[in-house]
Amino acid sequence: MSETTPFWWVDAGAPTSPPEVALPGEVDVVVVGAGLTGLSAARTLAMSGRSVLALDASAPGIRASSCNGGMIGGGHQLDIDEIAAKFGSSMVEPLLRETHLDANAFIKALIADEQIDCDLAVTGRFRGLWSKREYDAAGRELDRLKKIVPVEAEMVPRERQHEEVATDIYAGGTVLPLHGGLNPAKYVAGVMEAARSRGAVVQGDTPVLDVSHNGSGFIVETTRRSVRAGNVLVATNGYTPATLGFARRRIVPVPSFLVATEPLGADTVKGLFPNGRMVAESRNRHCYYRPSPDGQRLVFGGRAAMTPVPEGFASSQLRRLIGSIFPQLGEVTFSHSWNARTGFAFDFTPHVGCYDGIWYAMGYSGSGNSMAPYLGHKAALKILGDPEGETVFTRSGFPTRWWHRGPPWFLPFADMLFRARDAANNVRLDRR
Ligand SMILES: Cc1cc2nc3c(=O)[nH]c(=O)nc-3n(C[C@H](O)[C@H](O)[C@H](O)COP(=O)(O)OP(=O)(O)OC[C@H]3O[C@@H](n4cnc5c(N)ncnc54)[C@H](O)[C@@H]3O)c2cc1C
Repeated sequence: MSETTPFWWVDAGAPTSPPEVALPGEVDVVVVGAGLTGLSAARTLAMSGRSVLALDASAPGIRASSCNGGMIGGGHQLDIDEIAAKFGSSMVEPLLRETHLDANAFIKALIADEQIDCDLAVTGRFRGLWSKREYDAAGRELDRLKKIVPVEAEMVPRERQHEEVATDIYAGGTVLPLHGGLNPAKYVAGVMEAARSRGAVVQGDTPVLDVSHNGSGFIVETTRRSVRAGNVLVATNGYTPATLGFARRRIVPVPSFLVATEPLGADTVKGLFPNGRMVAESRNRHCYYRPSPDGQRLVFGGRAAMTPVPEGFASSQLRRLIGSIFPQLGEVTFSHSWNARTGFAFDFTPHVGCYDGIWYAMGYSGSGNSMAPYLGHKAALKILGDPEGETVFTRSGFPTRWWHRGPPWFLPFADMLFRARDAANNVRLDRR
């Protein structure tokens, strides 16, 4: 049986709450949720001299932000035609620029400026494409992308795929050399320290129970006391509670599962990833995997299920997927196996905005290591009334569906649908 805590915590330590202090009765801004989004927002607000209280229901950073795959880079999730169709053609260039360039530049500067020691390595990412048809379409999409924004990327045909990753399962892929990896637990701990050193008060184990209007501001009810705030920013993403109904109805919390193998040895891992790349794939299963920062292990994630499942079931699914990608490894054993919730938006696009006076930033749809701190910062600038807070993600709406009233009752059905798609993917693999 593997440890069910994230592998990242071995090196970084488990996220812990800062020492408890008496909560102030009144602040300029309360941030609800202290992951990458909330902590980055708290840092920006504190840097501009605002009094900020960032509250988390558990230890700050303990959810998705310290448990994820540790890949940075992001990029657009809808294709260019879909962006134009959904949001209008004027949104295409700014959306591509922010997701591919601005968010990454922001976090690289954040890590450098705050001297966050988080094993950042700009190794590049290989995106494995599942079929020849997808490979050809990705090549055409990349040509269009490069004409709109100066993204560094190149197509790698199937014949050269082993230069990037030792598998035959993909029909080639795309290399994005400026993407990379880090230890997410060290990263979020560093962002928390940065926010605190700028004067933000960060407190864990203090769930926000309710937010209500009070004159021109708000009363934030917590388990410890109520706090008056001029503004409130909700940064709860895949953990948005029922009390924050507007956001909860727009976010679909989907679990993602990860494992770390026992040490495989540096030569074996180098053999799998000759250039040390992060790898993500285009298939519905959306496997994503990478070498551990010390180059000794394989860290592997994917959609084992869309609902909570026992650890043994999840790790057996991931073991099967590893076996199909890297049959040369034989049976692998895991030291760690864990999961956390991503927050998906119905349009697979992050959103920043204000509803009934309450700000929100969320919906990274599985890819938030760059976007979450970036959009937390943008949301903070918006609260400050700073024109630099302008982002295309305030202009993208925030859709819900009439049948999403709060609890994600529909996920078991989505799970069945995706399993059918997985089966279709596998048939396609046999036939190609
Ligand atoms: C398994 C997994 C793998 C991933 N891999 C990658 C990757 O490799 N690369 C990448 O870019 N992205 C990845 N992501 C996505 C990325 O981790 C998230 O997009 C990002 O961490 C979101 O940060 P956040 O601060 O918005 O949310 P979170 O880190 O989830 O923080 C939300 C916080 O809100 C708090 N909260 C909830 N309710 C309340 C309340 N009532 N009061 C106070 N606090 C509350 C929670 O306790 C939590 O700490 C992955 C996600 C998962 C789950």
